[in-house]
Amino acid sequence: MSESSQTRVCIVCREPKSEGIRIWEQFVCVSCEREIVQTDVEDEKYPFYIERMKGIWFDMIS
Ligand SMILES: [Zn+2]
Repeated sequence: MSESSQTRVCIVCREPKSEGIRIWEQFVCVSCEREIVQTDVEDEKYPFYIERMKGIWFDMIS
């Protein structure tokens, strides 16, 4: 057991990562966070991110 850093599953890429940001109770890894920030509203990937983020919102209000 040499794991010292805690890994959490990113809600966007669904991969365990050790570095990232917490949004409410959820976790977004640094690479996804960067991608979301850089994604243009016109980008076809944008709705995908919004859908994932909406999932957090629904978890919060339900
Ligand atoms: Zn990620």
